[in-house]
Amino acid sequence: MPSHIDFSDRLKQLPPYLFVEIDKAKRAARAAGRDIIDLGIGDPDTGTAQPIIDALKEAAQNPANHHYALDAGMPALRQAISFWFSKRFSVNLDPDTEIYPLIGSKEGLSHLPLGVINPKDKVIVPDPCYPGYLGAVIFAGGRLVRLPLKERSGFLPDLDKIKDLKDIKLMYLNYPNNPTAAVAPKNYLEQLVQIARDRGIILVSDLAYSEIYFDNEKPSSVLEVEGAKEIAIEFHSFSKTFSMTGWRIGWACGNPELVKALAKVKSNIDSGIFQAIQIAGITALQMPEEKIERLRAMYQERRDYLIHGLRSLDWKIPPPKATFYVWGKIPKKFPDSMTAAKFFLEEANIVATPGVGFGEQGEGYIRMTITVPKERINEAVERLRKVL
Ligand SMILES: *Cc1c(COP(=O)(O)O)cnc(C)c1O
Repeated sequence: MPSHIDFSDRLKQLPPYLFVEIDKAKRAARAAGRDIIDLGIGDPDTGTAQPIIDALKEAAQNPANHHYALDAGMPALRQAISFWFSKRFSVNLDPDTEIYPLIGSKEGLSHLPLGVINPKDKVIVPDPCYPGYLGAVIFAGGRLVRLPLKERSGFLPDLDKIKDLKDIKLMYLNYPNNPTAAVAPKNYLEQLVQIARDRGIILVSDLAYSEIYFDNEKPSSVLEVEGAKEIAIEFHSFSKTFSMTGWRIGWACGNPELVKALAKVKSNIDSGIFQAIQIAGITALQMPEEKIERLRAMYQERRDYLIHGLRSLDWKIPPPKATFYVWGKIPKKFPDSMTAAKFFLEEANIVATPGVGFGEQGEGYIRMTITVPKERINEAVERLRKVL
């Protein structure tokens, strides 16, 4: 049937989805029965902890939880978030005005611009970046200002460049960073908050990886910085910390006016999070810290296997300090990251993500995830040993 539906200009403006080819090739390889090691997706392989599942099961049995949830979520959930936040970051948040539960943090990161961006407003989005920010800005009619993340600057946006830019309305920030795995030092955040306050820039901090850190170096929340609450909103997720990607639960917190803008957008779009999932979320936040410590130790061991394995192939990548991504320059024999990723798949049955898919500045890099068991990581290294 010929298509006669004309998509909106908004949809036509979205950047091309560069992972299409790799996705297709991966599916074809799987269908052909090839043993694929998928180092492409950022989705924990461990499954959600049993107490969280049990909490959901019990709550799902109670008809009181079957109704439309309150937009702002259960007070008990917001209190549990506030408690967790003050324990982890020593920052106090008012559960009624400074915390708002989300159907996953991506949802909130994407909806916020609809509440604060007018057509043609300029928004800083780092390059490379988590692709979700791009659609968010385009849907709101904003203008993208890409700031390069360079390895020599620790994959942090250049502060002087931000000072030189005029009329910036909002800036996305994501440390620990996907895809580069970089972490922002506290003093960088302090300088950035100062600049944002001076110029009235809204800071949108994506802290999805706050708990996936190594070598005992805890990443900071931007809200730890004095005065940050004047201009910042931060997005948190249960997905990575508690291996709950499919459950869809997260939260926004920070400046009450920004929280209010997001809440207003959302009240026109969704009707809250299934209450049984909120109750399971409370259980997750109250889990003993040793559970998360064990998870970190597991990822750290896998990271070390991959980094040491690749080094034995003369492929040197600095070990990431956080996230479950390894971001490295492609071996010299490849002209670009897409060619490298195709070679990995065709010659070694390994899926890795070409850096260019995260932005032009990602060209020359490839991203590998450590969300597979260490035996598979070793197997991947051995396969690469044969073909590289
Ligand atoms: C995984 C991820 C998210 C999305 O998290 P959800 O809470 O599952 O929506 C947001 N930002 C980054 C950088 C991520 O990698």
